[in-house]
Amino acid sequence: MDLKAKLRHVMDFPKQGIDFIDITTVLQDAEAFKEVLDLMKERLGGLGEFDLIVGPESRGFVFGAPLAYVMGKGFIPIRKRGKLPYKTVKAEYELEYGTDMLEMHEDAVKPGQRVVIVDDLLATGGTTMSNIELIEMLGGKVAGIVYFIELGFLGGRDKLKGFNVHSIVEF
Ligand code: IMP
Repeated sequence: MDLKAKLRHVMDFPKQGIDFIDITTVLQDAEAFKEVLDLMKERLGGLGEFDLIVGPESRGFVFGAPLAYVMGKGFIPIRKRGKLPYKTVKAEYELEYGTDMLEMHEDAVKPGQRVVIVDDLLATGGTTMSNIELIEMLGGKVAGIVYFIELGFLGGRDKLKGFNVHSIVEF
């Protein structure tokens, strides 16, 4: 299936000059959504043993949670500042557009656990770098990172040198 053709490009969202890739057109198409999850599952299967899937708010939940279910793993949410109810570890992050703070519960990952990060899209890599920081703060080891989409022209993968990075479609 041509998954690229199923993605909608929205110009000037959320700001002038941004070509925003809208994944909702894939999510609403049962066959396309299933194919993306199946392909991501294949990539996860190639990463070796791991214990947990971590997904950043909010589109990381959409892919991370069903993959945790089918692979029989726990799911850890990373959320924006102030959303998680219990004690958290925190990391600043820079986006393609703006900055913010991400948090994860301080007991979410145990020392030595192998963790996979799942997200919808790799742009500059800023979000993933702070996800890695949070996991490593708790003594976890990042076993791999799997995205649906990679914006190769932004060079996010260069920031993630040394990590096992996979994506399904690349622009
Ligand atoms: P990064 O931190 O620059 O790699 O940006 C990645 C994060 O921003 C991901 O969590 C995406 O959900 C979001 N993002 C950035 N650009 C787009 C886009 O064009 N479409 C959908 N999400 C995007």
